[in-house]
Amino acid sequence: MRTSVGRAGIVGGGIAGLGAAIALSQAGWEVTVYERADRFTEVGAGVILSANALRALDVLGLGAEIRSHLIEDRPGTVRNQRGRILINARIDDFVGGLVAMHRADLISILAAAVPHEQVRLGAEVVRVDEQGRIETLDGTAQYDLVVAADGVHSRVRAALWPRLGPVRRTGIAAWRWILDRPAPGNVGVVWGRHAECGVVPMAGDRTMCFAAARPPVRSLDHFLDWPDPVPSLIAAVDPARIVTGELLEIAVPQQLWRGRVVLIGDAAHAMRPTLGQGACLALEDAVVMADCAPDLARYSALRRRRVAAMSIVSRHGMRLTAPGSTSVAALRDLATSALPDAAAVRLLRAANTRLLGTWERPSRETIVVGET
Ligand SMILES: Cc1cc2nc3c(=O)[nH]c(=O)nc-3n(C[C@H](O)[C@H](O)[C@H](O)COP(=O)(O)OP(=O)(O)OC[C@H]3O[C@@H](n4cnc5c(N)ncnc54)[C@H](O)[C@@H]3O)c2cc1C
Repeated sequence: MRTSVGRAGIVGGGIAGLGAAIALSQAGWEVTVYERADRFTEVGAGVILSANALRALDVLGLGAEIRSHLIEDRPGTVRNQRGRILINARIDDFVGGLVAMHRADLISILAAAVPHEQVRLGAEVVRVDEQGRIETLDGTAQYDLVVAADGVHSRVRAALWPRLGPVRRTGIAAWRWILDRPAPGNVGVVWGRHAECGVVPMAGDRTMCFAAARPPVRSLDHFLDWPDPVPSLIAAVDPARIVTGELLEIAVPQQLWRGRVVLIGDAAHAMRPTLGQGACLALEDAVVMADCAPDLARYSALRRRRVAAMSIVSRHGMRLTAPGSTSVAALRDLATSALPDAAAVRLLRAANTRLLGTWERPSRETIVVGET
């Protein structure tokens, strides 16, 4: 029998926490996950995973299963609010492929890889200290490592990083829903003046839809005169199945660890979903953190710059996709449609490989998308 490297307590059983539980178990840690919900439930929304996340899932031993949700290659467009095509591309221009799946499916695949006895459901963590003590309403336990994976409203971050400031409200509204019917011919994204939306095909003949809007837009009615298929996808969904809320973000701490406690996932870097990278980075975090632990300074040094850069790009990305100004939107449309498709695809592939696809594990092995 393998001897334990140490005891790790994980606060939060979301994508980050479950990913960390699998990675730490593989590295020989004795793991306990504390999840305040009574069962692993997930909101009825979709999540897109790009090649960096698929490589992390390979390390966790789940890559093959997740790849059954790969989006088949097909054409996709970027259009403007009036339906004019700005860029023609293909799904496979995202080097290494894209997975689109229901979050509940992702959570249940991750949860199935964590032994039951390692998970405490209905266990709300009320206090954590730098020395590795986790307190719930039932009692206290001592750990060599505490992983704070408790999401954007992280209680651990608020207690141990008090100077970081509160969660930032962006004023931007977001809507996500899944339709149990195949995606229409026209998939891709539509960029408007105050808003944007996207239509993504999913495995199993389902369709993922998302939309986001700046003030003064406050309702999905704004999209009813947008180009097809947007209005029909809104009309087809039961409003009760739409997941909606304001986008939130946090300042990324300079140091992602304190004593025996480390931040991962949204607890470390909740960001706007402009790049669709929050969950992808959470999975990378889990793998790199388990590679480094107990050397948390190393984890922080490897991850901080990358997640902070993603957070900044995510914050400013909507200036292009929904700038909030008629003249900027017109300039954007002019510039993007003047760019030949081949050049746009080259840019997309280069950005995908450099920004999204390349990440570093502590062995200094650099993971690059498209490589197996
Ligand atoms: C509109 C929108 C679209 C998005 N689309 C994408 C996308 O396409 N691709 C992508 O990669 N990312 C996307 N994201 C981001 C992604 O959803 C998040 O980054 C990801 O879910 C973060 O996972 P997490 O495990 O860190 O946090 P969470 O999912 O928030 O999980 C935290 C867990 O901790 C538990 N918890 C909290 N406090 C306690 C406590 N005190 N005690 C015990 N348990 C506790 C919670 O119950 C929860 O289960 C999107 C986000 C939004 C808002």
